[in-house]
Amino acid sequence: MAELARLSLNLATTRVKWGALDAIEGCARAGVRWLAPWRDQLAAAGLENCVRAIRDAGLGVSSLCRGGMFPAPDRAGREAAIEDNRRAVDEAAALGARALVLVAGGLPAGSKDLAGARAMVADGIAALLPYARAGGVALALEPLHPMYAADRACINTLAQALDLCEALGPGLGVAVDVYHVWWDPDLDAGIARAGRDRLAGFHVSDWLVPTRDLLLDRGMMGDGVIELARIREKMDAAGYDGPIEVEIFSAENWWQRPPDEVVAVVKERFETCV
Ligand code: ZN
Repeated sequence: MAELARLSLNLATTRVKWGALDAIEGCARAGVRWLAPWRDQLAAAGLENCVRAIRDAGLGVSSLCRGGMFPAPDRAGREAAIEDNRRAVDEAAALGARALVLVAGGLPAGSKDLAGARAMVADGIAALLPYARAGGVALALEPLHPMYAADRACINTLAQALDLCEALGPGLGVAVDVYHVWWDPDLDAGIARAGRDRLAGFHVSDWLVPTRDLLLDRGMMGDGVIELARIREKMDAAGYDGPIEVEIFSAENWWQRPPDEVVAVVKERFETCV
């Protein structure tokens, strides 16, 4: 089973009832040593306030969510996306985050050119990488389930993400989120291929049957069908020994509950199911 010391609370899990500062206090209160904030949460609470609170609480930042969203209909839009990603790199550096998570982005409005969108992602990351390297911020490209290919991310498998890592070089790794990759027959091969150097993040939740909403109905670990412990063992075997983020978008269930209660369940399920 996973050690509790590796647990990181991705602040998507408590985003409805907790702002960033509430979540920092909540993690400290619960003995959770890592967290992963979202950029909008930091902006609302003030980045400097969050940096100070995280440092005072002695917490670590497993990742900053998120950069990416590179495709756009025109050159100005693509350049604006890269510039916004540079600001995200700055924020990740201020937080001392282990990585900046990148979600690729989907098809530009009005486009059906999936290959073209994928090329825009490669170009966007290539343009961002030198800035991230200079800032000492690792980039973690997160493949998303193919159901999001049109509107969120046209990078959909670990193999696809790793091809980009190999093409673009050091400083770019992958975030393995079980919700997005659990179904992939090549998952184990992808984790092994990534290896310690390119495994830059690990996110857990569970896949509910039935799933009632494609975005906001993720399950708590143990409530669905993902072989969490088996995948975690593969990550361990490949050399990943970093924090493990619990990231649960759950509009109808977990987002409705008191966050302290959610964190207590997260801790218990982390120890028994991951
Ligand atoms: Zn994730």
